[in-house]
Amino acid sequence: MTICIVLFATVAMMAQAKYVFYFIGDGMGTNQVLGGEMYRSAVAGEPLGRVQTLMSTFPYSGHASTYSKSNGITDSAAAGTCLATGSKTNNGVLGLNEKGDTLQTIAEELKKQGWGIGIMTTVAIDHATPAAFYAHVEKRSKYYEVGQQLSESQFDFFGGAGFHYPQGKKDNKDINLYRLAEERGYTIAHGLQEAQAKSNEAEKLILVQSSDDQGVKHGDNLPYAIDRKEGDLKLAEIVQTAIPFLEKRYDRFFMMVEGGMIDYACHADDAATAFGELWDMDEAMRVAYEFYLAHPDETLIIVTADHETGGLALGNSDYTLYLDLLQHQKCSAWVLSDMFSKLFQDKKKPTWGEVKDIYRTNLGFWDKVEISLDEEQALKALYKSACKGKGKDTETMYKNINQLGEAGIALLNKKAHVGWTTRAHSAHAVPIFAIGVGAERFTGWHDNTEIAPLIQQATKE
Ligand SMILES: [Zn+2]
Repeated sequence: MTICIVLFATVAMMAQAKYVFYFIGDGMGTNQVLGGEMYRSAVAGEPLGRVQTLMSTFPYSGHASTYSKSNGITDSAAAGTCLATGSKTNNGVLGLNEKGDTLQTIAEELKKQGWGIGIMTTVAIDHATPAAFYAHVEKRSKYYEVGQQLSESQFDFFGGAGFHYPQGKKDNKDINLYRLAEERGYTIAHGLQEAQAKSNEAEKLILVQSSDDQGVKHGDNLPYAIDRKEGDLKLAEIVQTAIPFLEKRYDRFFMMVEGGMIDYACHADDAATAFGELWDMDEAMRVAYEFYLAHPDETLIIVTADHETGGLALGNSDYTLYLDLLQHQKCSAWVLSDMFSKLFQDKKKPTWGEVKDIYRTNLGFWDKVEISLDEEQALKALYKSACKGKGKDTETMYKNINQLGEAGIALLNKKAHVGWTTRAHSAHAVPIFAIGVGAERFTGWHDNTEIAPLIQQATKE
């Protein structure tokens, strides 16, 4: 008996995570997960909650508070810094504390210990969340500086939409951030095929979408899952590329994988698109989970969010939810808005029938989603004002949306009984899910300062 206990204790003490997957759903509050699951269940005709994301089946779960040093509501830079370092900082700051001192990130520390490091996202690789793991700047908006620090980090693998602003000045010379990365030993791959062709030879790899043309501001984000076309790069493919790349070169690796556009969709108060992004991250997580199944005693998968976005409410009037209505939305608010803009550009004064057709095809209005006379009148009033050249676009965080696009999405959300309190972030608690070595540590109520240290502990035992 004593021997058994000693043996067990020894084994437990020796359990060390050699492979860490750190998933961050940007803007992914509890309701984004729950709503996404109930939505898919409703569409499948299953009891609500029957269709689960992979993360919510993980054996350990908890919650985290997300406030920053400077505010009750954090931005992605302060939250990312905290998730990467365990220290809170002021909104807008990356990798420094509120006094400006450099904070070492978990990725930097593990790299020093000989781990392979991968950083990947659905947005730009120099956006706040990925940057929080390698950059140290007082303002997240200094994208060129952040981009320089990316290749300076010498992390092994980056994947995502490219650089925000690849072109800038250094030593009075323009240095393109892609060229700089190449000078520093990185191979650039545009799209999955190139990555597959180049990854054997590459010492370090940056995988960006094939449409990124390396000079123009183009690499802001991958397309939303709901808008994706064949051949578009997606997060699951990036993870699929990163795992063998790191595994071949290292016996231990750390990967941060961000579902960055859950946040973008929630900034536009667009539930169908946000749920699409949630499930897209779930698909990427399944790739990591396959790896976990092959290495269950050495792998830790931890999932959390930097903050909630939109103040998403499941319920806006009575005791009913009609999430299944969201299935009739065929494109994001961004793309819908662009369709209306193009129609008014091309035709100046399109007919109400043409406008209705866009609503009918892309939101299912009239055919699949009942629209009352009052609701139609409200949409028609916006159409008339657009014909007169009136009507202002609504500014959302990452893209302005015209009134016809905004009103259509808002109406569908309202009819699904989904509510939104803000176009910004909220202070809602975010979920934590974990499986694998050290996963039990993440159970319960946490502050976001605790997560990075708990991951570090799991790599040390
Ligand atoms: Zn964020």
